[in-house]
Amino acid sequence: MTGQAFLDAAGSVVNDIERYYTTLPSRPVLPSISPGYLQKLLPSAPPTHGEPWAAIESDIERTIMPGITHWQSPKYMAFFAASSTYPGILGEMWSAALTSANFNWICSPAVTELETIVLDWLAQILALPHLFLSKGEGGGVIQGSASEAVVTVMVAARERYIRRHLERQGVTDPDEIEDQSCELRGKLVAFASAEAHSSTKKGAIIAGTRFRSIPVHRSNGYALTGEQVRAKIEELQARGLHPYYLGVTLGTTNTCAIDDFESIAEVAKDYPDIWIHCDAAYAGSALVLPEYQYLSKQMTLVDSFNMNMHKWLLTNFDASCLYVRKRKDLTNALSITPTYLKNQFTDSGLVTDYRDWQIPLGRRFRSLKIWFVLRIWGVEGLKQHIRHHLKLADLFVELVKSRSDIFRLLTPPKFALTVLTIEPRNSKPPELAEIDKGDPRPFQDQHVPIALETDDHELQIANDVTKEVYTKLDETKEFFLTASVVGG
Ligand code: PLP
Repeated sequence: MTGQAFLDAAGSVVNDIERYYTTLPSRPVLPSISPGYLQKLLPSAPPTHGEPWAAIESDIERTIMPGITHWQSPKYMAFFAASSTYPGILGEMWSAALTSANFNWICSPAVTELETIVLDWLAQILALPHLFLSKGEGGGVIQGSASEAVVTVMVAARERYIRRHLERQGVTDPDEIEDQSCELRGKLVAFASAEAHSSTKKGAIIAGTRFRSIPVHRSNGYALTGEQVRAKIEELQARGLHPYYLGVTLGTTNTCAIDDFESIAEVAKDYPDIWIHCDAAYAGSALVLPEYQYLSKQMTLVDSFNMNMHKWLLTNFDASCLYVRKRKDLTNALSITPTYLKNQFTDSGLVTDYRDWQIPLGRRFRSLKIWFVLRIWGVEGLKQHIRHHLKLADLFVELVKSRSDIFRLLTPPKFALTVLTIEPRNSKPPELAEIDKGDPRPFQDQHVPIALETDDHELQIANDVTKEVYTKLDETKEFFLTASVVGG
C-alpha cells in the first residue's frame, strides 16, 4: 500500500468508523447468527493475489458486522463496560504508527517516559496514596489486562516471600537456595474471597502455587473481612502451608462488593510477608470522584493495586493500570539482562525499563491513548462521565423497583452495576437464604448478558427492561443477571 493509497483507505475507514458510531443506536445489539457463520462467508483458502482495499472494506459490513456484539451501543448493558472513545481510537492509531518493541527505555524514550507521567497523573486523579508515585519507591505500569496484572504481582509476591524466608533461615549457598525454594514453593498458598475474579485462581495456577478461596455471604455484602483473613491464615499455617498472597477486591465481578479493607489492614500488620493486591478492575474508575476517595486512602494497605481504564474510564482496550508500592519487588522477580538487553542507560540506573515490570518483553505504546483521553476530558470531564453513569444506574434501579412484580434486586446496587433476580414464569427462583446456604446454582453459572433494546435510556428503560429481559430469561431459564450502565 502506498502512502497515497493509505490516505485514501484511512480516510474512508475513519468515515466508516464515524458512521458506525452514529448508526450504533439503531443496530441490534446482539448478533443473530449461528456458530461457524463466518466460515460460510469467507473463502476456505487465503487470497493468492493481493486485493484492493475497497474489496476488503466492503467485507467488513457484509461479513464481520453480522457477527459483532455491539459493546459500544448505548443499549448494551451486559457484563461490564468496555470503553471506546474517539481520543482512545486516535491513540491506538498513533501507537500503531509508531510501532516499536519498547522493552527498554532506550528503545524509544518517549514511550517509557509518557507512561510514567500519565500513570503518575492517574494516581493523583484516583487519589491513590503517594507511595504509588514514581518519585518514591513505587510506580505504575500499563498491563494488557487485570488478569495479567494479577499474575505479574503474584510472581513478584512469590519471589519476595521465598527470598525473605530463606534470608531469615540464613541460607546462602546457591544450590541450597534452589532446593529450599522449590520445596517452599509447593507449600505457598494464594487466597482471596470466593467472589474474587477468576484471574486470582488462574494467577496461582500460572505461578505454580496453591489457591484457597474464602466463602463470603450476602448478609455481609459479600465482603471479605479481616477476621476471615486471620482465620484462613491461621488454618493454613497450622497445616504447614505458607500463605503468601492475598487478593482483595474493590468491586467484585458478580455484585461489585468491596472487601472490608479497614479490618483486613489491621490483620495485615501481623503478616508483613503476605503480599496484598487490590483488584479494582471495574470500580477503580469511580475513584475519580471525591465521595469514593475514602477507598483510595485505604490502599495504604496493599502492595499493589490495579484498575482498568478500558472498562469504565473512556480508554480503549487495553489499558490496565497497575501500581506497586515497591517497584524493586517487581524488578527483583522479573529482571533478566542478557547482553543483548544491556545498554549504558540501563546500567546507569537512571531510567525505567518496563520489561522488568511485566511478563512479556515487548510492549505497545499504550500510554498515548491514556494521555489523549486525560487531556481531552480533563479531570472534571472524567468526574462528569462517572457521575452521569451513576445517575443512570440510579434511574435504572428505580425503574426495576417499580416492577417488583417481575424483578427483585439481589444485592444493593453498587457503582453502575445492578444485580437482579427474575421471577421466571415456569420455575421458582432460589430464595436469597438458599443462595447464602450455598445454593447449587452459583452466580457465575447464572449470569445472563443482556442488551436492552431501548432508544433512550432515560425514558424507555422500564418498558424495555421488562420486555427484553423477561423474554431472554424465559428462554434461557436463568435467574440472575447483571446490568451495568455503559452508555448513554
Ligand atoms: N477483576 C475484576 C474485578 C473483573 O470484574 C474483571 C472482569 O470483569 C477482571 C478482573 C478481568 O479483567 P481483564 O479482562 O482485564 O483481565
